[in-house]
Amino acid sequence: MRKFPIFLVIDVSESMAGDALIELENGMRQITADLMTDPYALETAWLSVIAFAGRARTLTPLTELPEFVPPHLPIGGGTGLGGALVHLMDEIDRNVSVNTAGQKGDWKPLVFLMTDGVPTDDAEPAVRRWKQSYADRVSLVAVSIGGGGDHAVLSQLTDDIIPFDDTAEGAFKKFIMWITNSVKSSTRSVTAGGGISLAKMGDDVSGGASGGLPFEAVDDRYAVFVGRCAKSRAPYVVKYERHLNQIGSQDPRLAELFQRRDYLLKAAVPVQEDYFELSDGSRSEASVSSVQLIGQPDCPHCHAPFGMALCGCGSIHCVQGDGPAICPWCGKTGNYGVSDGSDGGFEIERGRG
Ligand SMILES: [Zn+2]
Ligand SMILES: [Zn+2]
Repeated sequence: MRKFPIFLVIDVSESMAGDALIELENGMRQITADLMTDPYALETAWLSVIAFAGRARTLTPLTELPEFVPPHLPIGGGTGLGGALVHLMDEIDRNVSVNTAGQKGDWKPLVFLMTDGVPTDDAEPAVRRWKQSYADRVSLVAVSIGGGGDHAVLSQLTDDIIPFDDTAEGAFKKFIMWITNSVKSSTRSVTAGGGISLAKMGDDVSGGASGGLPFEAVDDRYAVFVGRCAKSRAPYVVKYERHLNQIGSQDPRLAELFQRRDYLLKAAVPVQEDYFELSDGSRSEASVSSVQLIGQPDCPHCHAPFGMALCGCGSIHCVQGDGPAICPWCGKTGNYGVSDGSDGGFEIERGRG
């Protein structure tokens, strides 16, 4: 039986932590259930899920639709797009059969590559390999989440770049519908010998009407920090979303003041140790001052009220309040005072997601 291989390659970097990954996880269940009712997809579709942050990993190997169980999506640090492509190409080599003298190979694979960030690795060699040996025999659709994908790199991989505005109302519901419908129509079209057939996403979600999304410097849309619980040592990710104070003023000095970039607390989510396996291990140069951070999360593990205590070693952990506490990263005891923000703040290193 010739299979129609579909790869979901999902960016699980820190900036995706919280709603986006939860929505995608639930969405995969919806997609599977929906495709099961489609006789064409049921007969030919095989699904695989690959997650990538600083490193890439196959979460579900290529599996025929009735056997497919949507995986849990982990979180990692970094956006290793080059590494993800290499991983994908190796998976295609291993699992997709090509035409041989006596036998027809599988149908042309379809890849949905979803990313919200600029690569933190050098993607050029992987892009070259893709263009040389895969571009002609694999259909790749790049979904730029929040308009945050690196369009310069993505446009070398495919003409199909879909900007997806994840902040629009009901965005993920429509997005999941779009994937489902695109898979259904592509199954029909590809098994009839044609190319892929993408469904319409709707201008409100794809940013199609305005011809682009309103993010001018998307890679600092989020400030993301990795902490550890002082009690359990378990890691967590704290995500702040950029908030531009754009209050119009004729006075340039006032306007500049109001342009200051603040970040509002968005989520603090527990992650597992596999966070570090999916991260590329390098630390980012970018730092944010604590005075730009608005809101302080509870520890998502032990619910200590302060989840953003900064040790002298530069790492973040939770504390109960004022007084001495042991840093779960370096093991040293520090004396913590809860800041009211009037001391000018401190610099915190940001994650790279
Ligand atoms: Zn804790
Ligand atoms: Zn420390």
